Amino acid sequence: MSDCIFCKIIDGDIPCNKVYEDEYVLAFHDISPKAETHILLIPKQHIVNLMSIEEQQWDLVTTVLRSINKVVAQENLEGYRLITNNGEKGGQEVFHMHWHILAGKDLPGF
Ligand code: AMP
Ligand code: ZN
Repeated sequence: MSDCIFCKIIDGDIPCNKVYEDEYVLAFHDISPKAETHILLIPKQHIVNLMSIEEQQWDLVTTVLRSINKVVAQENLEGYRLITNNGEKGGQEVFHMHWHILAGKDLPGF
């Protein structure tokens, strides 16, 4: 999608600090980290969020989630928190589905 910042990152039009990439997903460091480690994991296909997902796109969500532990192993994370914001009222600012992987010291409790 032409006006989507994450699609631009996927296309290489905007640089990112890449962590992991395969055919289906891209992971990169969040530009404004909220934890010692803050990685964003996104599908290469433009999906807005879980709220607006279409039935045939659920397999892609599984694919994205299955890649998390590859990122975790590669970055030697001993544990992590996974967050996905859905919709403006859910705190979503970038409307290309993404999963925040938060880890490291001083991760606040819920
Ligand atoms: P959300 O509020 O869940 O939509 O999260 C969007 C996240 O994208 C925020 O944590 C931003 O810091 C992050 N972000 C926005 N632009 C960039 C960028 N160019 N590179 C890396 N992270 C970004
Ligand atoms: Zn996009």
